Amino acid sequence: MNECIFCRIVAGQIPATRVYEDAHVLAFMDIGQVNPGHVLVAVKAHAENLYALDDEQAAAAARGCVRVARAIRAAFAPQGLSVYQANGKPAGQTVFHYHVHLLPRHDGDGMELTWPVKNPPREKLEQYAAKIRAALG
Ligand SMILES: [Zn+2]
Repeated sequence: MNECIFCRIVAGQIPATRVYEDAHVLAFMDIGQVNPGHVLVAVKAHAENLYALDDEQAAAAARGCVRVARAIRAAFAPQGLSVYQANGKPAGQTVFHYHVHLLPRHDGDGMELTWPVKNPPREKLEQYAAKIRAALG
């Protein structure tokens, strides 16, 4: 069995709240303890960081981020959107799939990253993901 958690999510072996998928990219609501409620846009293949992406993966990653960001805006009308990444071993990563975190922001959100709520239960994540999927059309 594959031990990589992202590969297992891509394969459907670990349930995740998927919002977008194409040949190269999978976007899902983060189910981990560290960043609950974020939307992760991850390349499906192993690529530790930006440098490791081929041109096709790079284009797909950027396109996936933009599409999901637009859908988040349409679904939730946040005042802002934080986009960040921390990839590779030097950033303490243990999964080696280039990925970007998308986090809608509202006035008053601090670095606690409370959108939409700090620790949304699974049902809430499914509701948020459904709204984003609907906005993706
Ligand atoms: Zn993997």
